[in-house]
Amino acid sequence: MQSEKQKEQKEKLDELLRKADVRQYDCYQCGKCTGGCPMAHAMDLKPRGVMRCTQIGSLERIVKSNTIWLCTGCHTCVERCPHDVNIPNLIEEARYLAAEMGYVRRDSKILNEVFLANIRMFGRNHEMLLAGLYNMLSLKPLQDMPTVPHMLTHKLIGVLPHQTKNTAGINRMIARAEKFSSMRPAGK
Ligand code: SF4
Ligand code: SF4
Repeated sequence: MQSEKQKEQKEKLDELLRKADVRQYDCYQCGKCTGGCPMAHAMDLKPRGVMRCTQIGSLERIVKSNTIWLCTGCHTCVERCPHDVNIPNLIEEARYLAAEMGYVRRDSKILNEVFLANIRMFGRNHEMLLAGLYNMLSLKPLQDMPTVPHMLTHKLIGVLPHQTKNTAGINRMIARAEKFSSMRPAGK
């Protein structure tokens, strides 16, 4: 017999799948999604594992994973999937659910805020500022320091920021996205 907690988890998982328009048993665990995912090496739950968790009812494993914050939404997994299982959709919905359940990692929040502040200011990301502020605020000031000389020498990052011509337009887009997001019902 299911406990109250298990019932609640099942309802949340069913709702998540419904919102993402994903049917868990469409996946037959072939692993082609994981094989093509550019972020799989860093994920603690691979894309195939995400689908396995939906099949065995392990919602917590999904919302507590770093996978949902590392997925870039590139859609490689969907393109490779023989059954068109839309894992990025599922992950996108899982992010909202994780936030609702209080599982957003502090580091992820900091990165999100610093990235958005950067975009608001310049209309595009200034990598050096992003890395510097993120490292300081997440209390890892020396993280990635050994790579800085190489990146500067090869012009992979620049010291000075570049401003887009229409920063005001980008800010209007962000404001519209935030308005849309605030109109989502809780958990959606
Ligand atoms: S590629 Fe599709 S069917 Fe294969 S494991 Fe991934 S989601 Fe499942
Ligand atoms: S959409 Fe996400 S899970 Fe799918 S291949 Fe891209 S990074 Fe991996």
